[in-house]
Amino acid sequence: MKFINLTRHTEIGANSYYLEIGRHRLLLDCGMHPKNTGEDALPNFKAIVDGEVEAILMSHAHQDHIGTLPLAMRRFSGTRIFMTQATAEVGSVLLHNSVNVMTRQREEIGEMSYPLFTHREIDRASERWRWCPMRQRISIAGERAAHREKDSLTFEFFDAGHVLGSTGVMLRAEGQTFFYTGDVNFDDQTIMEAAVFPEEKIDVLIMECTRGDHAKPAGWTRAGEEQRLAEALRGAFEREACVLIPVFALGKTQEILATLYKFRRERLLPEFPIYIGGLSSKFTDIYDRRAHSTRRQFPRLKLMREVAPFILNDETVRDTPVRGGRVYVLSSGMMIPKTLSNVFARRIIENPNHSIFFVGYANPESPAGLLRDADQGGEVALDPDKPAQRIRCNIEQFQFSAHATRESLIDYAKRISPKKILLVHGDPPAVEWMRATLSKELSDSEVIVPTPDLEIEL
Ligand SMILES: [Zn+2]
Ligand SMILES: [Zn+2]
Repeated sequence: MKFINLTRHTEIGANSYYLEIGRHRLLLDCGMHPKNTGEDALPNFKAIVDGEVEAILMSHAHQDHIGTLPLAMRRFSGTRIFMTQATAEVGSVLLHNSVNVMTRQREEIGEMSYPLFTHREIDRASERWRWCPMRQRISIAGERAAHREKDSLTFEFFDAGHVLGSTGVMLRAEGQTFFYTGDVNFDDQTIMEAAVFPEEKIDVLIMECTRGDHAKPAGWTRAGEEQRLAEALRGAFEREACVLIPVFALGKTQEILATLYKFRRERLLPEFPIYIGGLSSKFTDIYDRRAHSTRRQFPRLKLMREVAPFILNDETVRDTPVRGGRVYVLSSGMMIPKTLSNVFARRIIENPNHSIFFVGYANPESPAGLLRDADQGGEVALDPDKPAQRIRCNIEQFQFSAHATRESLIDYAKRISPKKILLVHGDPPAVEWMRATLSKELSDSEVIVPTPDLEIEL
């Protein structure tokens, strides 16, 4: 078996992994870097020598996992593509949005290779995506496989509890098992239920490390954190502040909307207007449509109807009046320049009355990362095309991650005790903490941090 990490650095970027199992050649995910542009934003498909891959298995539809799927399909034109139906539905919306973003960036940053694909290409590509249910063994040729079939390569999706449609991927061949966690959460969120992952023998575990550099704070519970958020919102409303919550359009938006719904229902807070962006509203519609057919909490909750958020676009986010008592749940989560959360943050950052609440992961070098880590009263340039601004608004952080705590990742690895563990999807300090800890606690497992572009024989 061979493995190549196709990301360009040890990081959460354009996540994509090449696997060779016997005569089978596969890709796990085809992401696009959420922050970089041009060539730097793509997986290094060139590291795959001579030609085809037989199948591409998608874990979920976040940009950093699905963003370059049309490119991979162009390059490996004979490949089959497998994902859950929810991932297909969300992924198609995300990729169409990505064409619009790249078309705009072509002007703004002069990246002449953009857009890397077209709306028509996505429509044609998505017709070839094969939808697979969770917990069913399927042969790499796309047929239901008998449990006893030993020789052929099969895959099976397991619910990863991260966002709608997200999966971990089990591969079985010749008595060997390989499991890729994708992005996982072992705890319940407000909508998503905790992952249900295999507990059987696994030979090779490919594991995400997003939160490897953060210890779970002592005494942290989601319920406690919700209380803290409700109190912070109440405080903001009392001083007539507005609150910006930067979020990923897929996943975190819907989790926060559901949390705000709970606050209103439990009368922790009075009625207050909530704003989201257009892309977020499309994903929220899909959460609502699929509420009955996916494993989740609040299966009857229709967010668009019950929470009834107002919808902002690129224009209205610039001139909507900033009024106290309103909550703006805007993407992008990392506040990438020109996105709604970035434009809105620049409108309120110098006003000591207003608030920005961070609720999830942000790359430390992204505008959200810079702002989160900056000192009150310091300067920050949220958009390189605009002057730096002084940070006067109130900034608070909450822990509502859609990713597993490092403690639960270590526990899972210990229960499975695989022969080999490959650590991926983490910034260098996160991966290093996981490597050191797993090497110490699992002395029979070989722990590997796969160097980008380097072929590893397993
Ligand atoms: Zn994700
Ligand atoms: Zn990810």
